[in-house]
Amino acid sequence: MRIVIVGGVAAGMSAATRAKRQNPQAEVVVFERGDYISYGACGLPYVIGGDVESFEKLVARTPERMRGEGVDVRLRHEVTGVDAKAQTITVREASGAAHSEPYDRLLLATGVSAVRPDWAETGAAGIHVLRDIPDGEAIEASLKGAKRAIIVGGGYIGLELAEALRRRGLSVVLLERGPSVAGRILDPEYQRRVQQELDKNEVDVRCGVNVEAVTVMDGRVSGVQTSGGLVRGDVLIVAVGVRPNVALAQSAGVGIGKTGAIRVSNRQETNVQHIYSAGDNTESVNRVTRRKVHVPMGLTANRMGRVAGVNMAGGEAHFPGIVGSAIFKTFDLGVARSGLTQHEADALGLDAVSVDVESTDHAGYYVDAAPIAVRLTAERGTGRLLGSQILGHPSSVKRIDVIATLLHSRSKIRDLAEVDLAYAPPFSSVWDVLLVAAGKLH
Ligand code: FAD
Repeated sequence: MRIVIVGGVAAGMSAATRAKRQNPQAEVVVFERGDYISYGACGLPYVIGGDVESFEKLVARTPERMRGEGVDVRLRHEVTGVDAKAQTITVREASGAAHSEPYDRLLLATGVSAVRPDWAETGAAGIHVLRDIPDGEAIEASLKGAKRAIIVGGGYIGLELAEALRRRGLSVVLLERGPSVAGRILDPEYQRRVQQELDKNEVDVRCGVNVEAVTVMDGRVSGVQTSGGLVRGDVLIVAVGVRPNVALAQSAGVGIGKTGAIRVSNRQETNVQHIYSAGDNTESVNRVTRRKVHVPMGLTANRMGRVAGVNMAGGEAHFPGIVGSAIFKTFDLGVARSGLTQHEADALGLDAVSVDVESTDHAGYYVDAAPIAVRLTAERGTGRLLGSQILGHPSSVKRIDVIATLLHSRSKIRDLAEVDLAYAPPFSSVWDVLLVAAGKLH
């Protein structure tokens, strides 16, 4: 049994280690076109901000360690073609030489690429996206002597970077095309609080602004021309979204879903026999809406990879789907969500109702009690929990996991209202803010 994996980060390496554990006799080979495998891309903004001391710290496993575990890893090897009938792939090595490799089972774990709008393709120095370690290293090099950064995109990566660059002493302008930052993450009322946190930390946020061109001086970015005028800056980071890497899959006849990502069964099988797909390039099912979605997140990629690894190696595993959980921080504000926002529920035509509760994250009389805001959303009539958004101190918003757990099992608001949550003054109020919100909605 020869298991071949394309892509060596979260999904690919989870699959490789799991397949080897499932079937120690299987030959497992990973082809990665980059210089690194098995690293936490999620940590990149924190290296730039200085919370993590180096990019190397993000690497969980080296190729040598993987080889010690019986997984053959080939760096700087790009897979350029798949012949599904012959069950072979074409591999281009760093030297440019190409050769063919056979497979019994093939996993596409090719991830996503950062969207680079045409205006960003000037070739000038100082223009970046942030997807992988080399991108992070390039940003780091650009920051030397830089004074003013422009970030384009107010999603979670743009917001994490705004904090990182302010901490590095740069002035930061954040440009967002939509009416608000965090527009695809939160309801408008909660977006405004994120905006306030950015204002407090002197990030110059300009929404409703379209970038039209980059201005260049002496081969380096000097600003951007926007629908709202010229914005000056000596580093430009473009964080306007990602696109699944599906060209290789398409060349093999693998089906792409309406979301633009690879369509799979809950065993991570594509429509082409013996070809599997997992991670950011792949669709999943949202358990709340039962719809296919493309939500490229770290835990999802790891879990899909595991499922693919077990199945490719002859076992039986199923990916249960996601509930749309996400968490991040910007400055002193933690932001978490799971399930649907009111806005998303409305767009889907659900009869949804929300309740908001403001409280403190632990007993008000105990030291360092900080404000916390919770929105709970439920389906009118059935009482089914649909989602939640939580804003507060970064240490307090992980209570979103209670909501994620209930959403996973399609629970009702009543179930949340009745649950026996842990209490002591340093951690919560006796009636935790989640219980208060559930009580109001129930
Ligand atoms: P990738 O990590 O994209 O890896 C795919 C690999 O495939 C790449 O190394 C690529 O070089 C390789 N490849 C592609 N095509 C080929 C080919 N033809 N031949 C050979 N190799 C190929 N998620 C969270 O859940 N929480 C977070 O806080 C969070 N923060 C993030 C912050 C940043 C800055 C970034 C960039 C991502 C963050 N993510 C976060 C997302 C998370 O990192 C991804 O979900 C995860 O990395 C996906 O893993 P993957 O293996 O599917 O894809």
